[in-house]
Amino acid sequence: MDDCIFCKIVRGEIPSSKVYEDEHVLAFKDLHPVSPVHVLIVPKRHFDNLCEMSGDEEGLDALRFIYQALPEIVRLVGLQGKGFRLINNCGASAGQSVMHTHFHLIGGRPLGAKIL
Ligand code: 5GP
Ligand code: ZN
Repeated sequence: MDDCIFCKIVRGEIPSSKVYEDEHVLAFKDLHPVSPVHVLIVPKRHFDNLCEMSGDEEGLDALRFIYQALPEIVRLVGLQGKGFRLINNCGASAGQSVMHTHFHLIGGRPLGAKIL
């Protein structure tokens, strides 16, 4: 997608602080972290949102690649054994501001028992 911010980050056209990369997945630090660890995990291929991914085989494959990479990303950011929260905002009304599926990996402080 030409003017998608996260596609530009994947292509290296916008700089990012990368923490993990493989053929299918990129993880980089959020520009406005809400916790000591706040990493965005994205499929390299553009999908607008999570529901779109769930609807076809390539999207499901991309989700599998993300979940396969997750333990290594957690290890690389120092959260192994410490716990974390993985969040996806799906759709504008849920707070999704960048329309390229991404998961927020947050941790490094007590997150509390409730999401809100
Ligand atoms: P959303 O609100 O869509 O769930 O999350 C989008 C996230 O992307 C926000 O937490 C925001 O701080 C982050 N973000 C937006 N633009 C950039 C950017 O250019 N670089 C990085 N690293 N993060 C960004
Ligand atoms: Zn994109």
